[in-house]
Amino acid sequence: MHPLNERQQALIEDARRFASENIQILDSGDDRTAAAARLYRAFARGGYHALLIPEDLGGKGLDYVSTGLVYEALSYHLPATLHGPITTAHCIEMIRIGCQGARRDEILSAIASKGMAVGFCLTEEGAGSDIASISTRAERSGRGFTITGNKSIVINHAIASLLIVFAARPGRRGRAGLNAFLVDAALPGVRIGKPYETPGFPGSIMGDVVFDHVPVSRDSLLGEDDSGYFLLMETLDKGRPLVAASCTGAARKAFDLVLDHAKNRIQFGKPLFSFQGISLPLAELATRLEASRLLTFDALSRIDGNRTFSMEASMAKLHAADTLLDIASFGIEVLGYRAAGTSADAREIVRIHQDAQLMKSIDGTANVQKMVIASQL
Ligand SMILES: Cc1cc2nc3c(=O)[nH]c(=O)nc-3n(C[C@H](O)[C@H](O)[C@H](O)COP(=O)(O)OP(=O)(O)OC[C@H]3O[C@@H](n4cnc5c(N)ncnc54)[C@H](O)[C@@H]3O)c2cc1C
Repeated sequence: MHPLNERQQALIEDARRFASENIQILDSGDDRTAAAARLYRAFARGGYHALLIPEDLGGKGLDYVSTGLVYEALSYHLPATLHGPITTAHCIEMIRIGCQGARRDEILSAIASKGMAVGFCLTEEGAGSDIASISTRAERSGRGFTITGNKSIVINHAIASLLIVFAARPGRRGRAGLNAFLVDAALPGVRIGKPYETPGFPGSIMGDVVFDHVPVSRDSLLGEDDSGYFLLMETLDKGRPLVAASCTGAARKAFDLVLDHAKNRIQFGKPLFSFQGISLPLAELATRLEASRLLTFDALSRIDGNRTFSMEASMAKLHAADTLLDIASFGIEVLGYRAAGTSADAREIVRIHQDAQLMKSIDGTANVQKMVIASQL
């Protein structure tokens, strides 16, 4: 990686300071939804929901490499909390690609200035990896469309003012006829489900969203008619290395906590780290962590440099999510009984471990990443 410039170093320092000022929200005793909503508001006050929005529209105007550096730093100091802002970033990219001119600027500046959260409504009970099989429908009606269907596992669902919804033209087959729509969450017919009580993801809210004959105008359509699949692929490709950056930051945090414990915990008269059963797996994990970082920032710099990046983005996500889970799992093993949560450090590793299991599915499972890579070999 290139040495960081002054602005990037300042961004990382700001992210560290932001995290130390806000980490107490997670242990505030608020219920999970309230804590996640407070945390999102804090991220938005710091501009972390709008890193990719140009400065003249009120965002931070960062490129992908700098955004990845900030995500990595935030995920190191506030692990397992970034899903809300990352989801908004995916939606921002979709709006940047799918909207034109004044309308695009108006939406992006509203997101930046109002600290908006945006929800990404793709997955359905019957359509996960196989996104072409979604059953949500967008029927033409008058000068717009009527959207009907049920979406699952929507991050930000209860705090989003805007939703990007994937729906298909009735009677269409496969990827053709798939479209993305920008939907105001306050429209009649939009019903927000109760937040899930999932393990992990302490800083995020997610749940179902039902669209019951929701009327939307013609200009809610993102991109050209029938372009939803291509819009989705481009957005997911760009989002994957950002998720990988978040995995890398959390993995480094888990690694540092485990290494510290291994060097300080004495058993059989010596630190755990002096036993090769502990030090050699850590050496391997340190190597994999470095590889995650290199893959991640290579993919991000390809995006910034307008080079091909789809395969590299999937490689980064695949490797970084696997490595995060393996470091967190090994960490739980090395902690021994502390994995029951007997110290703040131990609770942090357990939190990272719970999050890591789900990080493997976000933006496509490990097998989906392998399918993307295989298709380009
Ligand atoms: C924490 C979290 C947040 C999420 N946030 C959102 C969100 O905000 N909005 C949204 O729309 N979605 C969201 N998702 C959904 C996510 O995109 C899906 O979980 C993902 O696409 C996989 O779908 P699925 O879980 O139904 O798994 P399935 O598609 O049922 O797959 C289950 C397993 O089978 C494997 N598999 C499936 N098909 C094949 C195949 N052809 N070949 C080999 N293996 C295969 C998969 O790799 C996986 O291991 C989120 C998921 C998680 C875990």
